[in-house]
Amino acid sequence: MAMTKLEALKKYFGYDSFRPGQEMLVDGILEGRDVFGIMPTGAGKSLCYQIPALLLPGITLVISPLISLMKDQVTTLNQAGIHAAYLNSSLTLGQFRTALKYMAQGRYKIVYVAPERLLTESFLEAVSHVDISMVSVDEAHCISQWGQDFRPSYLHIRAFVDGLNRRPVLSAFTATATKEVKEDILALLNLNDPVMLTTGFDRKNLKFIVQHPADRMKTVLAYLKDHGTECGIIYCLTRKNVDEVWETLLQHGYPATRYHAGLGDEERRQNQEDFLFDRRQIMVATNAFGMGIDKSNVRYVIHYNMPKNIESYYQEAGRAGRDGLDSECILLYGGQDVVTNQFFIDQMEQPEGADPETAQLIKERERERLKKMTFYCFTHECLREYILRYFGEYGSNYCGNCSNCLTQFEEVDVTDLAKALIGCVKESRWHYGMMMIVDTVHGSKAAKVLKAGMDRNPWYGSCENAPVYQLRQVMNHLVLEGYLHLADGEYRTVELTERSEEVLNGSSVVMKAAKKQQKAETESKPKKKTAVLGEEDIDRDLFEKLRALRLRIAKEEKVPPYIVFSDKTLAHMCQLRPQNREAMLEVSGVGELKYEKYGERFLECIQDWKG
Ligand code: ADP
Ligand code: MG
Repeated sequence: MAMTKLEALKKYFGYDSFRPGQEMLVDGILEGRDVFGIMPTGAGKSLCYQIPALLLPGITLVISPLISLMKDQVTTLNQAGIHAAYLNSSLTLGQFRTALKYMAQGRYKIVYVAPERLLTESFLEAVSHVDISMVSVDEAHCISQWGQDFRPSYLHIRAFVDGLNRRPVLSAFTATATKEVKEDILALLNLNDPVMLTTGFDRKNLKFIVQHPADRMKTVLAYLKDHGTECGIIYCLTRKNVDEVWETLLQHGYPATRYHAGLGDEERRQNQEDFLFDRRQIMVATNAFGMGIDKSNVRYVIHYNMPKNIESYYQEAGRAGRDGLDSECILLYGGQDVVTNQFFIDQMEQPEGADPETAQLIKERERERLKKMTFYCFTHECLREYILRYFGEYGSNYCGNCSNCLTQFEEVDVTDLAKALIGCVKESRWHYGMMMIVDTVHGSKAAKVLKAGMDRNPWYGSCENAPVYQLRQVMNHLVLEGYLHLADGEYRTVELTERSEEVLNGSSVVMKAAKKQQKAETESKPKKKTAVLGEEDIDRDLFEKLRALRLRIAKEEKVPPYIVFSDKTLAHMCQLRPQNREAMLEVSGVGELKYEKYGERFLECIQDWKG
């Protein structure tokens, strides 16, 4: 008798139920309809096509943009006992021919293929002999020129599908939800009245934190004291930053590796693999790292610098906690980050075929995005709410799991400082940027201040007793609240607004600031329970033993540990402490095949452990 979708889910993947949204897309496909799923990273898009692929009569082709991604997925499927293969440039000609031959013989249920291969003669020839039930387009936003991941060869998908003898079901998946990208995908893939699903972008297991540390390196080291054995990513804006942070971590004895475009192909590949295989737990990288990384047990993502926009931030931060366990996303803001990002925007090359006006428009849009990213670092509202609103969703305005919701703020009267800053801008005729104004009212004797003659500004030194960081906070507050305006363009000079006069005429300015004693408390917070151990009845000892066993198996089989079992699965084992096969199969993530392979070794490990 034919297997049902739930049986397949349990047997191959070891899960009891679908997540929100998954079922609707699976059903759509099984009814023969096209589907289009827009779900955030970690939501479980792969299962949406993998489960139907197992139940449909013919082969499913999955189009995927990256070699590493395909490899990872195929390894996972093979581990689960599903016959799958990939066709891309990493194969030798011989391997490629063999894979095509096996495909034509119907040995695979799922075949991953690089978009560049679709229209090649050998592939078309092989495909003409088989029954293709579905073509699945993963990372479908690569078809759109609006995103940063545009892949011209994704435009061939439509021609490929049109050329098939029988039109298969088309399914498309992405985590990018902007309107332009969505419309591009619908049109360019020619989806036929698809079942559309957009699931919420909220990732409840992620805790969002923004900090403005005086010394970022110190902050990172303090964090790693508690979290150094867990897997995490530290994103930096520049290669130089990556190298510095990486070297410092090594000096302190942390198992760190690094990734950026300045390293050779081989070193990059090696470092990425060290991270995936848990040989090195900490990855220090630029944004070049991450696309196609499905590692599920990343427990934290630290942004050592503020990234260029919320899209990038959420995508990068979202690499934490794909297994659904509590994880932390920490952004360390520094004033220089705005300048660096601004510089990147100014240096952006004119996109191919774009006229100067379009190029200008693109830059303006980037500046606007950067502004919203900066506001994120200064808002006192719920951080989660801020992000969701950016993507057009509305949450509750209190999540209870971000640094703003968890901080008590008090109102501070900053009228005098505000008046000085605004007065200084007015007297200097809008010629200068934020730092110059701050330095002036603080009475700095720096050469650039004196050279500009700012020591003759009537507000010079009027706030010499206020610390610079506070003046900067007030400055940011004034910009956020519209009392001052930051000009676009290269120099970002500070300008007056309609509201500026209100302050000069005596209306007061009140700002929220973290309560002092509260702050001290978060800084010296006692060692937090490991995220994995969020649930009380899990023993750290047993968890570590299972983790060690997983690592041994991973080494034997030469696969990343999370492909053997996820952290979540191990945590569940600690909770249930199964003593036999039946009980082990109850553990989320333990399917029949995985049980055959590893079940007994894990059972033994649990039995040996005297808790
Ligand atoms: P996406 O492609 O949407 O970013 P993935 O397909 O890589 O996400 O899935 C993320 C993780 O969620 C994987 O570890 C996967 O095994 C797990 N997962 C997916 N669906 C389920 C489910 N129904 N129950 C439990 N775990 C699931
Ligand atoms: Mg995916």
